[in-house]
Amino acid sequence: MKNRIWLSSPHMGGRELDFVNDAFSSNWVAPLGPNVDGFEKDIQNYLSISHAAALSSGTAALHLALILLGVGSGDEVLCQSFTFSATANPILYQRATPIFIDSEEETWNMCPVYLRQAIEDRLAHGKKPKAIIPVHLYGMPANMNEILAISEEFDIPIIEDAAEALGSIYFGRKCGTLGRFGILSFNGNKIITTSGGGALVSKDEMAIQKARFLSTQARDPAPHYQHTEIGYNYRMSNICAGIGRGQMEVLDERVRQRRAVFEFYRSYFRERTGFDFLDEPSGSSSNRWLTCITVDPDKANGITRENIREKLEAENIESRPLWKPMHMQPVFSGTRYYGGTVSEKLFKNGLCLPSGSNISAEELTRVAESIDELY
Ligand SMILES: *Cc1c(COP(=O)(O)O)cnc(C)c1O
Repeated sequence: MKNRIWLSSPHMGGRELDFVNDAFSSNWVAPLGPNVDGFEKDIQNYLSISHAAALSSGTAALHLALILLGVGSGDEVLCQSFTFSATANPILYQRATPIFIDSEEETWNMCPVYLRQAIEDRLAHGKKPKAIIPVHLYGMPANMNEILAISEEFDIPIIEDAAEALGSIYFGRKCGTLGRFGILSFNGNKIITTSGGGALVSKDEMAIQKARFLSTQARDPAPHYQHTEIGYNYRMSNICAGIGRGQMEVLDERVRQRRAVFEFYRSYFRERTGFDFLDEPSGSSSNRWLTCITVDPDKANGITRENIREKLEAENIESRPLWKPMHMQPVFSGTRYYGGTVSEKLFKNGLCLPSGSNISAEELTRVAESIDELY
């Protein structure tokens, strides 16, 4: 059996262990410390944003953002349907109600037309949604100019899920810095990783201070342990942050590598009909976290997405269907949904190809030739 080709695997830069060793030699083996402070500064500098809190996961960052916006029991939150479940789950942690919004074809992300429709309809029912959560899926920036305009018009803040989009750029600004809050993930399969981790970023200093307070069990200033609020154990460890500091040094290189993977597949399949790649709208630069294709069996000799996935699996190559929209998930059945069939079709016909920054030229060729053999 040929060795396995993974969808997206961790890719260390070289200096990570130095930072981890610093933590060991100073005995900062704790959920706080110099690496956490340094990593937060690195994130702030990279994104050009004034404040960042390093946390245990992107999911934790989303949860804290909702808490900071005062989302609670019975509140409604507008959320992109076409995403990973971690975008929506924290809404339920707060006993609030998600309202799912379909995607647009241009970016595969939240459709501004359905967003407006949802807000107007909810207002007509006497309910004003508390937050909007667009996602930059697979690294492609959402249509933020329109989403931001709607957010301002109706005075509903945005939590930008940039978990997959670290290094993506929208009209000169980094993804994650466009809304009231941005969230990042450093899970093992993301463009850079701390093994597990996340961050909450914002221009709002008070809010990020509050996030740090809530993420360390909400301890009031007192010699004993005193609490007037419910806290969480959501802070990033100083060991993980050390990995993150090393990874930040190679982030731009990782973006270039992922984009090169995308260009390889796109040029390889240029002559093939029935295979489509998502182009960047003008003003947008995607980190191309994962290269995705959509397959039209009518134009691809009857070949379906599943044919390709199964063929790759038989060759010991990992691939994955695009995210199953939240409004189609059993756990969210009965949830309100505004949209058509854009995300449903993407789920039906879309596939993520191996896209790691450490994938070799030989491996890329193996993936492409395996798909080509189906013809
Ligand atoms: C990975 C991911 C998250 C969650 O991040 P974790 O660090 O794994 O908790 C949230 N949203 C999207 C779109 C993601 O891909």
